[in-house]
Amino acid sequence: MKPPPALAAAWRNGLDLIFPPRGLDGAPALAGGLTAEAWSRIHFLDGPVCDGCGQPFEFDLGPGVRCAACMTRPRAFDAARAACLYDDAVRDPILKLKHADRPDLAPLFALWLSRAARELVAEADAVLPVPLHAFRLLKRRYNQAAEIARPLARREGLAYLPDALVRRRRTESQAGKSGSGRRRNVAAAFEVPARKRPLVEGKRLLLIDDVMTTGATAEGCARALKQAGAARVDVAVVARVKEMAGLTI
Ligand SMILES: [Zn+2]
Repeated sequence: MKPPPALAAAWRNGLDLIFPPRGLDGAPALAGGLTAEAWSRIHFLDGPVCDGCGQPFEFDLGPGVRCAACMTRPRAFDAARAACLYDDAVRDPILKLKHADRPDLAPLFALWLSRAARELVAEADAVLPVPLHAFRLLKRRYNQAAEIARPLARREGLAYLPDALVRRRRTESQAGKSGSGRRRNVAAAFEVPARKRPLVEGKRLLLIDDVMTTGATAEGCARALKQAGAARVDVAVVARVKEMAGLTI
């Protein structure tokens, strides 16, 4: 028996979000501005990962296991997950979202995070983005982390806190800085305004960003949120670099 057309369409649309459509002849079709072949090269982190930083493990060591770096130096956030590795395959769609060329990619990334960070989503009270500095937001008019966090909160029925955390000074470019340099650069860059504290006090928060490199930015955010009384801060990103320099101490 065939499913009703509306249901079939919904199912197909759902699949299209994760797996881009292909023609019946197998020819690559466009999805998110990329061919199916380009999507297929994205390295999704579907296997076992470190509970602390989301780094992929070669073997499944069981739930809650952490990598050596996370055990040596616990992070300011409690746990992190990434949907995929940051490499050439995913750089292009992420940049397209960042520069607002393809805002339609945001709900797709939100869906990826729903899957990759499902344990963290299940524990969360609220979702919030890594904020941009107000000047940068004015210039760009667009915070790609917020564009991902908003549909994720809606999908999961969680509170969305777009302005509970603010970036109070502009951080210098992170490029070329070592892990400890990046940490100094973002230290005290974030704060929860006093009137927003009730939104985070005692709450389990899920912080969203597009890319995690050393994790220093996420740590700066987590520190500010915990100082404001957050019970727990987890992190979910679309992509993370394979080796996080700041983690090897
Ligand atoms: Zn780790």
